[in-house]
Amino acid sequence: MSWSSFVDKLKYKAKQQGKHLVKIDPWFASSKTCHCCDHKVDKIPLNLPPWKCPKCFIIHDRDINAAINVKQQGIIKLKAEGLSVSANRGLRKTSHELIAV
Ligand SMILES: [Zn+2]
Repeated sequence: MSWSSFVDKLKYKAKQQGKHLVKIDPWFASSKTCHCCDHKVDKIPLNLPPWKCPKCFIIHDRDINAAINVKQQGIIKLKAEGLSVSANRGLRKTSHELIAV
């Protein structure tokens, strides 16, 4: 399957479920940008997945940091198109927690 037909299928499935497919700039440095402070490092060694941001000192898992950055970029693009984006998929945590007795 080509990339474009894969993206077409994703668009179809997203539309079917009332969701939006957002394309992120392929040159966006999702792995090398700290999702907490937006500091961008020049290089991350591939054999050392966790890295420490030199600005805010938080330790990142490379893949999780990249996923958070991609999600944030998607939210920014959707908001730029005038769409509202709800946090936590529109689900809100209840203020009353159930306690098993
Ligand atoms: Zn940082």
